[in-house]
Amino acid sequence: MLPFARVAIIGMGLIGSSLARAIRAAMPTVQLVVSDADAAVRARVAELGLADDVADGAGAAVVDADLVILCVPVGAMAAVAADIAPELAPDTVVSDVGSVKDSVARVLGAALPGVHVIPAHPVAGTEKSGPDAGFAQLFHGRWCIITPPPRADAVMVERLAEFWRRLGAKVEMMDAAHHDRVLAVTSHLPHLIAYSIVGTASDLEAVTRGEVIKYSAGGFRDFTRIAASDPVMWRDVFLNNREAVLELLGRFTEDLVALQRAIRWGDGDTLEALFTRTRAIRRSIIDEGQDTEKADFGR
Ligand code: NAP
Repeated sequence: MLPFARVAIIGMGLIGSSLARAIRAAMPTVQLVVSDADAAVRARVAELGLADDVADGAGAAVVDADLVILCVPVGAMAAVAADIAPELAPDTVVSDVGSVKDSVARVLGAALPGVHVIPAHPVAGTEKSGPDAGFAQLFHGRWCIITPPPRADAVMVERLAEFWRRLGAKVEMMDAAHHDRVLAVTSHLPHLIAYSIVGTASDLEAVTRGEVIKYSAGGFRDFTRIAASDPVMWRDVFLNNREAVLELLGRFTEDLVALQRAIRWGDGDTLEALFTRTRAIRRSIIDEGQDTEKADFGR
């Protein structure tokens, strides 16, 4: 039996449209109703045939749904929750895909009292945005972290977990605050560093912007891919995972100063020891199937 028969997706960008495609592929009999704030996105989604129905507003999309998944930027969750609140059927599960979990859990819990709110985060994505960027295999072999609130209904949590497994994801349960600390390390800080490096390189006076682009080597090129990620989504991530990111930034800054010192004093042993340790981390990511050996260029 399908975990959910009628699913509503609000926000049909990269993640929402990937979800719609993945549901179509894995659970073709699910009734899928979607919506997006942007009329051009709604028109494109209808043209691509990604859903059974494209509603004009979030409220209309969720009527009779047994699962609603909010795929909007973290900062837009409260507004969407307010839109859908009066339209939800009893026992509807409301989930999301936001990259930050503690603030989203609080916002949704407050706006939707008495509703089964079960936040989640598929740890899968690309630097692209919009409905044309999505693809059905995005979640295959990727982790989906579910962060059930303390008194969440265990049956509903399991149904949501089964839903994600059917889309090809591996499911892990985690406390929301812990999720935010983990993702600050694995995703948020790396994005901040990429945004910062690419910004610095483009501001340099001794090297022209043309040279930065013309001679961009592996390192810089990889950072530009990350720094091309959606500006609104990432603005909201940093505004909503403030404490964890600031704490980590403190630690990162100290470590960077230690490296600065090693370079200044010609301490090759320190540099080599660190670079050897980091190479082993790359190896374990490949061994765990979270990336491939393939060179990034042209991927
Ligand atoms: P996206 O491609 O920019 O799509 C977001 C869509 O939501 C846009 O079409 C946007 O329309 C629409 N939207 C914004 N506010 C809305 C509202 N109030 N009501 C209805 N629709 C609204 O972004 P995305 O990459 O799919 O990210 C969506 C969510 O997934 C975010 O919470 C993000 O943190 C999370 N996530 C992203 C990734 C990733 O790698 N990208 C990975 C995992 C999770 P407008 O363009 O008009 O604003």
